[in-house]
Amino acid sequence: MVKERARILVVGGGYVGMYTALRLQRRLKRELRQGEVDITVVAPDPYMTYQPFLPEAAAGSISPRHVVVPLRRVLDRCHVVIGEVTSVEHAKRTAEVATLATAEERKGATFLEYDELVLAPGSIARTLPIPGLAEHGIGFKTVEEAIGLRNHVIEQMDIASSTRDPAIRDAALTFVFVGGGYAGVEALGELEDMARYASRYYHNVQPEDMKWILVEATDRILPEVGPELGRYTVTELRRRNIQVLLNTRLESCVDRVAALSDGQRFPTRTLVWTAGVKPHPLVAATDLPRTPHGRLKCTAELTIDGVDHAWAAGDAAAVPDVTAAEPGTETAPNAQHAVRQARVLGDNIVHALRDEPLDTYAHKYVGSVASLGFHKGVAQVYGRRLKGYPAWFMHRVYHLSRVPTFNRKARVLAEWTLSGLFKREIVSLGSLEHPRAEFELAAGGKPPHSPSDDSNGSS
Ligand SMILES: Cc1cc2nc3c(=O)[nH]c(=O)nc-3n(C[C@H](O)[C@H](O)[C@H](O)COP(=O)(O)OP(=O)(O)OC[C@H]3O[C@@H](n4cnc5c(N)ncnc54)[C@H](O)[C@@H]3O)c2cc1C
Repeated sequence: MVKERARILVVGGGYVGMYTALRLQRRLKRELRQGEVDITVVAPDPYMTYQPFLPEAAAGSISPRHVVVPLRRVLDRCHVVIGEVTSVEHAKRTAEVATLATAEERKGATFLEYDELVLAPGSIARTLPIPGLAEHGIGFKTVEEAIGLRNHVIEQMDIASSTRDPAIRDAALTFVFVGGGYAGVEALGELEDMARYASRYYHNVQPEDMKWILVEATDRILPEVGPELGRYTVTELRRRNIQVLLNTRLESCVDRVAALSDGQRFPTRTLVWTAGVKPHPLVAATDLPRTPHGRLKCTAELTIDGVDHAWAAGDAAAVPDVTAAEPGTETAPNAQHAVRQARVLGDNIVHALRDEPLDTYAHKYVGSVASLGFHKGVAQVYGRRLKGYPAWFMHRVYHLSRVPTFNRKARVLAEWTLSGLFKREIVSLGSLEHPRAEFELAAGGKPPHSPSDDSNGSS
């Protein structure tokens, strides 16, 4: 029995948002039935994205719809509102929300009132004011970006195969990735592997015609798996003819020429930016306390520091790492913490509603797994280091155990099994992004969108 009726507002439908709401609806079943508690989840998309599967989705090993979890089905006892919270005035317990309907009605945003706030809008790509980046860079955080990039890479191979202009061919077959964390390394590793495989179906594109380049500003990649495996990954990628440029920065990509700090210049139609994340800008549109780095200032109990009835976790939150030797350390922005924090956060809201003491979030980082393509990977888990096939296998087992819902696990497993039995899919469905093009042409409208136009916009 809770003290009084509580309206809980969860902002975000990612790891923290979905898992917190799931925990709450499980633990507050009776209260929800009796109308003592009400949970509303606001998220821009009707699904949670399992981001660690994005590189495999880009490589075509997993279908895009199996990388996402439908919020309405999983959170069947919550109200799911598809929209964006644009600001929060916690002093008044009010959030401003823009939905598709508010845009249609042209009445401006609506306001949601709440008693308990969970703020989990995650992070966005951390960009730098590099000339040309905003025009030509491609991000790698969403399922749309991952599938768009897959289509784009195959499209570049089609361009290279059909042009007689060596400069166009060269730029089409040059793929530059900036940022050597797991998102960048896994995306590059998987896509290079996919393109290498796809090249066997092109009479005039060989693997050695393609240039894959990883640009990293520091002297190491994959810090998540430790220095030794980071060095192994560099060697492994270079063995595959991938150029790994350490201590190097992208300085410009004006006119689709990637100019690097070591003086090299690569004309390219593909520039993928995965150089870190920063807290979602919504955090700054609230009256809640933030750290100098812009994350929400949290306690180890996942409350927002010094504020009643406000909670946060995940990429947007600065949560003290109570297991760290050095005081002042914050938990890293990754799924491992986000999932576990969501569980504690859900429990703590229940404790708070029942006037019980709160739990402390304490989790020692257990390591990381990363896939570098089919049958290739690196892993460091509980101090054990794995490379190659065993690491790749561990990567799959680990993520299969983690992807939410039995339904998704079964579908992903079926897809992996089938892709082991049959040949890989190597078709680009870029035209799906323009479904009306054919009809517009038939109806006498503008000509359909050409594949190369698409690259103009996205690369
Ligand atoms: C390609 C890639 C691979 C990764 N691989 C790994 C890995 O192998 N291991 C690992 O530990 N971590 C990995 N991560 C990191 C991990 O996915 C994140 O740390 C985790 O998603 C953070 O969870 P979160 O809930 O804070 O944010 P998210 O999961 O990003 O969720 C944020 C949610 O908030 C929503 N939102 C945003 N703005 C608003 C708004 N204004 N109003 C309402 N809702 C809003 C978003 O749409 C989203 O639903 C990877 C990330 C990427 C991009």
